[in-house]
Amino acid sequence: MIIQNASLGKESWFGCGGNADQLFRPANADELAEFLKNHDGEITVLGGLANTIIRDGGIRGVTIQLGKEFSGIKVLGDYIEAGAGALNGSVAAAAVKAGIGGLEFLSGIPGCVGGALRMNAGAYGTEVKDVLTGVHVVTRQGEIKKLVPEQLHMTYRHTDPPKGVIFTGAIFKGRREDYETVKARMNEIKIKRNETQPIREKTGGSTFANPSGELKAWQVVQKVGGHELKIGGAQMSPMHSNFMINTGDATAADLENLGDEIRRRAKEQLGINLRWEINIVGER
Ligand SMILES: Cc1cc2nc3c(=O)[nH]c(=O)nc-3n(C[C@H](O)[C@H](O)[C@H](O)COP(=O)(O)OP(=O)(O)OC[C@H]3O[C@@H](n4cnc5c(N)ncnc54)[C@H](O)[C@@H]3O)c2cc1C
Repeated sequence: MIIQNASLGKESWFGCGGNADQLFRPANADELAEFLKNHDGEITVLGGLANTIIRDGGIRGVTIQLGKEFSGIKVLGDYIEAGAGALNGSVAAAAVKAGIGGLEFLSGIPGCVGGALRMNAGAYGTEVKDVLTGVHVVTRQGEIKKLVPEQLHMTYRHTDPPKGVIFTGAIFKGRREDYETVKARMNEIKIKRNETQPIREKTGGSTFANPSGELKAWQVVQKVGGHELKIGGAQMSPMHSNFMINTGDATAADLENLGDEIRRRAKEQLGINLRWEINIVGER
């Protein structure tokens, strides 16, 4: 079913931005494949909207969002197979419950498996690429396929899969561990996050990827005074200067302009190219 004029911006973690002209939430991979075979217009793919700014003018063409229809999670020995619409936190919880260690880093990463694959999401020294053994995809031509991680060219907070593929699921490998040990590590992650990240704010996670070189992104933001800037309702979080927040009435343009101003200063004052880690879609 296609939903017309869907208010996706409001549903995003930032809580602002425009609508999607046409939103398609397929029921399964076959329906997605059939749709892609018969549609050659523009397509935008989104997941849990935890890492995305949707511009105020909204998204033209068809937006595909894999949701609860793709949220199944299966435990197979030390492997966990999860649909692209499964919440990262649910994958971590299923692993802990099954006594599988190594996936607890996913517990505090908002959003879904599809987004985590595309972003090579990571935390506390582990990223998706370290635990991934395969992905299920549908190609732009509508073929259902399985790919191995080597075909995805995963690097720091970035994945470069064959053009146009949509992830429909992933297979992760953990290791057998004692339930209590894994559970304790997951609790530690939760405490650390509560102390260091503005998880109750309207935010999109890390705004910029850490640049190569000695300075972390948050340090670059501070050095150029980005943590003191405010554009409309957008500012960097006082708790973590690489987390951008909507303080209440920000538009997507406020968020983007704030990020671009910090990038401009970083280039001009420090010669550093800050790369947006947040994905920006749609029209201004
Ligand atoms: C409070 C907070 C804390 C965060 N902490 C972390 C952290 O510690 N580490 C970290 O890595 N990230 C973090 N993030 C960012 C975010 O949680 C991750 O990037 C997450 O993996 C995004 O998933 P999503 O489903 O919300 O993706 P979306 O924001 O919906 O999309 C992100 C990208 O993935 C693509 N995409 C989504 N689904 C698919 C699919 N099925 N097939 C192909 N492409 C797809 C989109 O096109 C887009 O390019 C944080 C975010 C917040 C709000």
